[in-house]
Amino acid sequence: MTSLSEEQRIMRQSCRDFVDDVVIPFIRGNWQREWDMRPEGRLPPEILEGADKVGIRTLGVPEEFGGVELEKGTETQTFAIIAEEIARGDSGLSDKLVQIWKVSVLLRNLAPRHLQERWFPRVVNDPQFLLAHCLTEPRGASDRWLPYNVPEAAMQTKAVKANGGWVINGRKQFISNGYDAGLFVVYANTNPKVGMLQGTSSFLVPRETKGFTVARCNETLGCRFMNNGEMVFEDMFVPDDHLLVQDSALGSAGIYFRPGKIIQAAKNLGVGVRAFEATADYVQNYVQGGRILIKHQAVALRMADMATKLEAVRALLNRAAQAVDDEAPEAETLCNMAKMFASEEVMKVAQHAVELHGGNGIMLDFGIEKILRDAVIFLHMDATSDVSKFKIVKNMFPDTAGKYAGPE
Ligand SMILES: Cc1cc2nc3c(=O)[nH]c(=O)nc-3n(C[C@H](O)[C@H](O)[C@H](O)COP(=O)(O)OP(=O)(O)OC[C@H]3O[C@@H](n4cnc5c(N)ncnc54)[C@H](O)[C@@H]3O)c2cc1C
Repeated sequence: MTSLSEEQRIMRQSCRDFVDDVVIPFIRGNWQREWDMRPEGRLPPEILEGADKVGIRTLGVPEEFGGVELEKGTETQTFAIIAEEIARGDSGLSDKLVQIWKVSVLLRNLAPRHLQERWFPRVVNDPQFLLAHCLTEPRGASDRWLPYNVPEAAMQTKAVKANGGWVINGRKQFISNGYDAGLFVVYANTNPKVGMLQGTSSFLVPRETKGFTVARCNETLGCRFMNNGEMVFEDMFVPDDHLLVQDSALGSAGIYFRPGKIIQAAKNLGVGVRAFEATADYVQNYVQGGRILIKHQAVALRMADMATKLEAVRALLNRAAQAVDDEAPEAETLCNMAKMFASEEVMKVAQHAVELHGGNGIMLDFGIEKILRDAVIFLHMDATSDVSKFKIVKNMFPDTAGKYAGPE
């Protein structure tokens, strides 16, 4: 995006103030909180309350339900601006919030009106209320992204039609907000005879549904203020109206995935910007060999490399975000490129940051190693780098690129 609208500029500024005044001081002053093994003890409620006050928690929720509805033609670009700003403060906090935005977009497009009337006010009225999107299973993830459109790759989680609704059995893993969300979108196989594009359905599942259990909170390497979880469904009955999309749910989820990839890349960029800002400050103040670090030429070279990588990520991200908002034909390819490229480049930026901090870069209380841990997560979230590259080539060469699986 070349220039920001008035709305975007104001939102970015209030978000930036919140991050500088509240989030970064909290993270710096409470670095041990990340390692609290009681997931609910990590992030104090005031942080989500603060996000609520500056109006960035309920982006994507329709205004009629009290949410913050953005200008439609630039919605994805605004998501990117805000996701980056929050991740500059803390990537896990950004994860927590963006799931609300992404799932809200899905619900406002797919959920029946009476369920929107029931759930959106709950999201709006409770600053701690979180949403989750459950696709990944112990025996299936990357094949769903490609996707391998053959029956043997179908989801193991199954939904079977019953009187007045559906009975779901199975389990999901690695789910963002999975440990503490109040409402889940769950994907399940509804037709084992066909490929997953024709036989996967999506359902709305409230946390209190009988047969629903949160099995564990995953202890992650980075983004630790977002509680990633695993859940089990045992003869879980959901009524007919909780079916969001029957059979073709993976195709309809594009509405979630395309802005989702942009948001991933934007959060990732925020981690890189934090790495750069902290390092720029360090090398202009820390003295070694009688001179501040930046006067040593090898240090200057690394700083130039960091800055160039971040600008390249930003340029691609802006182009891809605009393509998603414009519903351009190249949007699918570009948003995969942006997500993949950001994860690989910001990883290198984070490595420079740690190396330029020397021993301090490794010490937990100094706060720089956290950037590296947060950066590494992006290589795996929303598809691995390798699978993202396959998707790019499949999009560009649909007639000749490989299927990568299925019958010979
Ligand atoms: C922090 C975090 C948050 C997440 N949040 C969510 C969420 O909210 N919802 C959700 O549904 N999922 C979520 N995930 C899951 C994420 O999407 C998957 O981890 C990711 O898609 C990779 O799947 P996998 O872990 O099962 O790896 P696998 O699919 O088992 O892949 C293992 C390795 O095999 C490679 N591989 C697999 N297939 C191929 C192939 N055909 N060719 C070449 N290489 C291949 C992969 O690239 C990778 O290197 C999250 C993951 C993380 C880490």
